[in-house]
Amino acid sequence: MAEKLELKGIKHKIVVMSGKGGVGKSTVAVNLAAKLSQKGYKVGLLDCDIHGPSVPKMLGVEGARFPVFDETIEPVIIPPSLKVVSIAFLLPESDTPVIWRGPMKFSITKQFLEKVDWGDLDYLIIDLPPGTGDEALNIAHLIASIDGAVIVSTPQDVALLSVRKSINFAKKLNIPVIGLIENMSGFACPNCGKEFNVFGKGNVERVCKEMDLRFLGYIPIDPAVAESGDYGEPFVVKYPESASSKAFDGIVDKV
Ligand code: ADP
Repeated sequence: MAEKLELKGIKHKIVVMSGKGGVGKSTVAVNLAAKLSQKGYKVGLLDCDIHGPSVPKMLGVEGARFPVFDETIEPVIIPPSLKVVSIAFLLPESDTPVIWRGPMKFSITKQFLEKVDWGDLDYLIIDLPPGTGDEALNIAHLIASIDGAVIVSTPQDVALLSVRKSINFAKKLNIPVIGLIENMSGFACPNCGKEFNVFGKGNVERVCKEMDLRFLGYIPIDPAVAESGDYGEPFVVKYPESASSKAFDGIVDKV
């Protein structure tokens, strides 16, 4: 196996995982990076979703392309200082598919860790694709010490089934589980204020108790989250007073 990368200039390496797609994993990764950056930390965000990168869209830099100088890749900067790297910055068009098998994916992931001018960072947040495939394994095999995994799920049974696989994957690869987030947890009607638990509520916390893991908190279904993702600005920046932003503040404090 290839030698692992120490990445000495990066203090904390955190992966964001989910068992299934569409549960809000990239949303969490982007907002976690943005919030830590807002707090004054030096932060990098590595979009490891090779086949379905959504970080650039969520940060409003879909059209950005890497300036590559002498083998060094300069990350795209989201002002004031968030450093972002995604396969999307290498594609001719944003709808160009990446049709690669394992070895190519390993090679680009290695380059993103080795050749990118990350500088000194307090946090590198790594957005993994859903599930436990090549990309997650590559990161686990390439980085000498991953500080932990934040795992995102909705409260639905179908999501919980696969979240247990992510937990076991992390355990097998000796990645400490920082904790779990329940996303899309309840919806407060803007007219009557009543809460509707569209996908259920509390199931992720229950799994945490069962598996002796830390529960990091709930994020409600919130139009502010969906809209800011489409608009290209993290909800913690665009809508700091929203219910989801306030819920997220409590989550970030526990990470
Ligand atoms: P994943 O990375 O797990 O595939 P995404 O972060 O891309 O999921 O989220 C999927 C979609 O759901 C996006 O359009 C996003 O804006 C939306 N979304 C995520 N979390 C919420 C939420 N709490 N409320 C409303 N929409 C959300």
